[in-house]
Amino acid sequence: MSRPVQATVDLHALRQNLQVVRRAAPHCRVWSVVKANAYGHGIDRIWRALEGTDGFALLNLEEAILLRERGWKGPILMLEGFFHADELPLFDKYRLTTSVHSNWQVKALQDARLHAPLDVYLKMNSGMNRLGFQPERVQTLWRQLRDLGNVGDITLMAHFAEAEKTDGIAPAMARINQASEGLDCPRSLSNSAATLWHPEAHGDWVRPGIVLYGASPSGEWQDVAGSGIKPVMSLTSQIIAVQTLRAGDCVGYGSRYRATQEQRIGIVACGYADGYPRLARTGTPVLVDGIRTGTVGAISMDMLTVDLTPCPQAGIGTPVELWGNEIKIDEVAASAGTVGYELMCALAPRVPVVTV
Ligand SMILES: *Cc1c(COP(=O)(O)O)cnc(C)c1O
Repeated sequence: MSRPVQATVDLHALRQNLQVVRRAAPHCRVWSVVKANAYGHGIDRIWRALEGTDGFALLNLEEAILLRERGWKGPILMLEGFFHADELPLFDKYRLTTSVHSNWQVKALQDARLHAPLDVYLKMNSGMNRLGFQPERVQTLWRQLRDLGNVGDITLMAHFAEAEKTDGIAPAMARINQASEGLDCPRSLSNSAATLWHPEAHGDWVRPGIVLYGASPSGEWQDVAGSGIKPVMSLTSQIIAVQTLRAGDCVGYGSRYRATQEQRIGIVACGYADGYPRLARTGTPVLVDGIRTGTVGAISMDMLTVDLTPCPQAGIGTPVELWGNEIKIDEVAASAGTVGYELMCALAPRVPVVTV
């Protein structure tokens, strides 16, 4: 028997989540965001389950080329565009749609020798101050790009900093509408949060990521509980040892947990070197033999410890769900001061993955 930690990727859930996105934005085309190795799920493993999408969005060339080599012929959007002009021959060869967010990229497109024009996403800074041109430059840049022989279709692209809040996108929407007034140009504005919660921002193409993988863009599972989305990744393991503590006994590094009475605890084969967050607090929810309990003490590199008080039947070999269908990744993330995005992206390479 090998070490029992394992991740499971549920392709049916992935397909179903794409349908939830379709229902939320019925008139839009969908860029399925598969950056960061499909948020840690493995782009090669999962992309076929998303074949019903209209396009894939990501940001590193190796992943784009992989999709082409596997046979994906539809659109691929490079969310950050090219990082250097010498990548343009590959954008040309693999027919990649490029974001353009800086002056040097416009110049590089102008100077490139391409076989055919590339479609361009003109990135506007709508207030987040990461990538993109200032709103007042959008109209000029749009005309400038339109006149370049190397540029095909142009779409206006922006991104929201606070789409998970009820009135979070209003200032950005106002800037976008003002910047693009009179411009006859398709738009792509919405991440998962805006796709689910701000239909006024849907535009022509939505760009959902996290919701496809079955976690909440707000970090609160509650916010998506009624939407039909299902967690795609589960992280499971087993109890490999049991200890019975007496009152006053401590657990783990730093003795961060101290028993106040006799207590059974289980040692689970999963630690931060598997991608479980080291900062998860005592009491972070864990499912042991189908029963909810919590962690006790510090998370180690290879192990973590759980309270067996609610599940006296549990012993060596008992199955444990660290996150998945019952224990939502959002809950574990919240208990560790982070978001589901970070946990799924951080699944460690040493964890074997099975697909169902
Ligand atoms: C990552 C990303 C998305 C997807 O965001 P989610 O919150 O995961 O839906 C959309 N657009 C851009 C530009 C991104 O970088």
